[in-house]
Amino acid sequence: MLVDLTQVLLPARRHHYALGAFNVYNLETVDAVLAAASELDSPVIIALGERYLKHFPIQAVAAIVKTMAQDLCVPVVLHLDHAQKLESIEQAIKAGFTSVMIDGSKLILSENIALTKRAVALARPRGVSVEAELGRIVRTGAAEADLFTDPQEARQFVEEADVDALAIAIGTVHGLYKGEPMLDLARLSQIAEQVSVPLVLHGVSGLPDHLIKSAIQLGVAKLNVNTEISIQGVDAIRGFLANRGNENTRLEELMIEARHSMVGVVKKYMEFFGSSGKRQGSFAMARH
Ligand SMILES: [Zn+2]
Repeated sequence: MLVDLTQVLLPARRHHYALGAFNVYNLETVDAVLAAASELDSPVIIALGERYLKHFPIQAVAAIVKTMAQDLCVPVVLHLDHAQKLESIEQAIKAGFTSVMIDGSKLILSENIALTKRAVALARPRGVSVEAELGRIVRTGAAEADLFTDPQEARQFVEEADVDALAIAIGTVHGLYKGEPMLDLARLSQIAEQVSVPLVLHGVSGLPDHLIKSAIQLGVAKLNVNTEISIQGVDAIRGFLANRGNENTRLEELMIEARHSMVGVVKKYMEFFGSSGKRQGSFAMARH
């Protein structure tokens, strides 16, 4: 069944576990994420980044996920990740996505709030949840403290823009870390005191386990996993081809190998985040 973010994230924040939002790029990744959720009885968020839409058309993703989620008894959120254009949000809602992220994090506070309010105005009447981002999560490298989320601004942002979930910057980076990853957990707990909506961390691949555990305890209810799924899939294909030498190899065999290894990594995260076995914890209200 398809549900929105609030149905799976509110119980998660309340009971100190988190959901993975797993980025998908094609049919095999969708299939791997749903198979892992089903095997572990875990609610799940399928995330498709705006920048991947050129490879995986939005209507196709929605049709595939809706069809595959129909017969599953775990709640599935179909989420548009990092939309910078309201046009993508409109398309996603029209196609049947149950959740969207508007990313105005590069804008100044007032403009970010204004853009986010427009996204909420599009989404909420259709029962679609909205995640926004405050502070900057940088791409591959070292996170910069002056881009971190300010707790007071977070409060103002959530009050004015009225979002369902807030992605914050406290030290994670998109892609791979250069140097020792760190998280500003003191800042996280200050933000969690100011903001009651579920908090989101992007850029979790490569973060040490103890930091992830602490972040979940402090109020993070959604963790985005992207890079590691792709790495696992590619590694499985590399290994498979290396074992085959020059033998003729079928494309579907390669994809089965990649899928198998991606199911493994998604299950590992579901167990670690504590979402496995939490199907019943979600509000059992199917939208579709
Ligand atoms: Zn992100």
